[in-house]
Amino acid sequence: MFEKVLIANRGEIALRILRACRELGIKTVAVHSEADTDAKYVRLADESVCIGPAASSLSYLNVPAIISAAEVTDSEAIHPGYGFLSENADFAERVEQSGFVFIGPRSDTIRLMGDKVSAKDTMKAAGVPCVPGSEGALPEDPKEIVKIARAIAYPVIIKAAGGGGGRGMRVVHTEAALLNAVATTRAEAEAAFGNATVYMEKFLENPRHIEIQVLADQHGNAIYLGERDCSMQRRHQKVIEEAPAPGIERKLIAKIGERCAEACRKIGYRGAGTFEFLFENGEFYFIEMNTRLQVEHPVTEYITGIDLVQAQIRVAAGEKLWLRQRNIEFRGHAIECRINAEDPFKFTPSPGRITNWHTPGGPGVRVDSHVYNGYVVPPYYDSMIGKLITYGDTRDQAIRRMRIALSEMMVEGIKTNVPLHQTLMLDPRFNEGGTSIHYLEHKLANRNEVKG
Ligand code: ADP
Repeated sequence: MFEKVLIANRGEIALRILRACRELGIKTVAVHSEADTDAKYVRLADESVCIGPAASSLSYLNVPAIISAAEVTDSEAIHPGYGFLSENADFAERVEQSGFVFIGPRSDTIRLMGDKVSAKDTMKAAGVPCVPGSEGALPEDPKEIVKIARAIAYPVIIKAAGGGGGRGMRVVHTEAALLNAVATTRAEAEAAFGNATVYMEKFLENPRHIEIQVLADQHGNAIYLGERDCSMQRRHQKVIEEAPAPGIERKLIAKIGERCAEACRKIGYRGAGTFEFLFENGEFYFIEMNTRLQVEHPVTEYITGIDLVQAQIRVAAGEKLWLRQRNIEFRGHAIECRINAEDPFKFTPSPGRITNWHTPGGPGVRVDSHVYNGYVVPPYYDSMIGKLITYGDTRDQAIRRMRIALSEMMVEGIKTNVPLHQTLMLDPRFNEGGTSIHYLEHKLANRNEVKG
């Protein structure tokens, strides 16, 4: 096992990784920007290094500063968390070349999955069902493009190979709009991602977002740890996640889960990862793979009893998977609400000093947050300040516990989206389960109409 791990991230996930390291008896190094000097995890870490000013481009994305911090502290491995450099293949490669272990897949795997065209080709070849679409990138010839769209049938979606974060996508409903849409998406993709390659997919009108968590070691073993339903989204950002996904037969999950594990074995995947699917009319359609830990990993931890962050560290250290698929049991139901520092219905960010912070507790309640009384939410980073996760024997119990937990949650001095979560926990369609990825947007749009 490693003696010392450097945590190349901030906020709740830095604290989460620190806790996992402590339990494994590993010393920690926290790197931080000037804005995060007073953070709780910085004080709790065995060592800390300031890597630059507040702006992420100068600190959390500053590769040379992070590598030097690892060197001066004699760290053995680097955990990238999520966001920032976690899916940056060049960073992973620099980490490897500098003699450290990157806690994640090999850099070439990250590169392969980071390009959506190569990711889709690879998954198709590995037997993972994909959204029907163009064979690889779209050609230049307009006649060919029109032919491909006709074969797929409208509506179609044009997507950038280098896209991410919900950007670089355009839905096309008619042939008249097709070529313009392709040209615009190409130009935008070139400007935003430095890669004009685009591809085409069938646009699914009412899908759910279902993802499969996988775990693989570097000795060719891979398992799946069930699914998460992340359909409650606003602007492609997940708001609530849960496991298992309501109303989907276990047989179907086992089948797709096994396909994902098999794909991991085929590509020599290492570490934790997530296969994201759209799910419509009983069918799974792969859209992308995330080669890192996800924000919503706690719901999977609750229903499987597996500590995913410790698992990541153990397989990165070379351990063989200690679990077989038949050892994995899925028990109960877990729900996660992302707590953001923002106006609950207008969504404008609300940074500033938290004057009063009280978190809920009781059976089946977990709070992952780096926040404390008097903490100042800096304006420079993502607005998520924590996650509230509840567990129950049934979905109904998890929801009831979430309602109680939200009512106990007290945050003063800044605005949070707790009121939005309270509304959603009482929403009849959410309570039924199985809403599509458009449900929240529609609900919010209706709310605004009613309010005038
Ligand atoms: P990103 O990497 O930017 O998150 P994804 O490929 O994961 O891009 O797609 C983001 C979101 O866009 C999906 O969660 C879904 O809401 C929508 N989307 C993507 N592809 C399709 C499709 N073929 N049909 C319908 N919606 C889609």
